[in-house]
Amino acid sequence: MTTPTCFQAYSLVSYDKIIISAVFLMISVMSIFILKKYSLSPKMKILAIYSHLLFLFFPVFILSTHTVCGTLCMSCYNNLPALVAYALPSATMATAVTGFFFLPALLRLNGNRKFRNRWIENFLWGRGLWEKIYTIDSAKPVAFSFRGFRSAIFISMGMQEILNKRELEAVILHEIAHIRQHSSMLKISNFVFRIFSPFYIIAGFHHENKREEMEADNFAMKIQGTRKYIKSSKKKVSDFYNHK
Ligand SMILES: [Zn+2]
Repeated sequence: MTTPTCFQAYSLVSYDKIIISAVFLMISVMSIFILKKYSLSPKMKILAIYSHLLFLFFPVFILSTHTVCGTLCMSCYNNLPALVAYALPSATMATAVTGFFFLPALLRLNGNRKFRNRWIENFLWGRGLWEKIYTIDSAKPVAFSFRGFRSAIFISMGMQEILNKRELEAVILHEIAHIRQHSSMLKISNFVFRIFSPFYIIAGFHHENKREEMEADNFAMKIQGTRKYIKSSKKKVSDFYNHK
């Protein structure tokens, strides 16, 4: 009697795995194609970057899960649904972590420029606020910050067109406050979810937390010494979306 050896290198190249890997790689390449070809909203850009990463990582994780299952003689070996069930969380985690570290860099590569406004820069630098600010090519007035390994603020062309410099400064201060809101980010439940779910990062751009919003507005008010500009900038943005 010989002990059964589960792992056989040739079974790595079964048709189902080749097909699923090819389909996933195709989706991955397509996401980058869509990202380059169409002018997407910042949210859709982020979604495209994340799906590119997820579908790129997935075949790698399927093959390595297969190898591990085979080596350990586990039943997940050559059981495609089980392999997917094991590979998906790992691939999602890898995507979230990669995105967390590289998303600002990826967004910058995608045609975004450094935000340039001497007056606002001098105002911020004079107060020790050195956050990196980028301009994104979107006609819609949007502003968001990315809290990650390399924090950055993104302000759309549309936003820069409808706001005057004091209002723009207020919006930037509001986003700086978001980047600095580490206290709430460290609340464990929130923190784990933010790190491991790429979808949270996408949702996170929408400022759903009322308390954080208030704190960010208060920060802008404190630095500018008035609530006037944060208020008028919000009004201009909401008027834009309500087609007034
Ligand atoms: Zn906000």
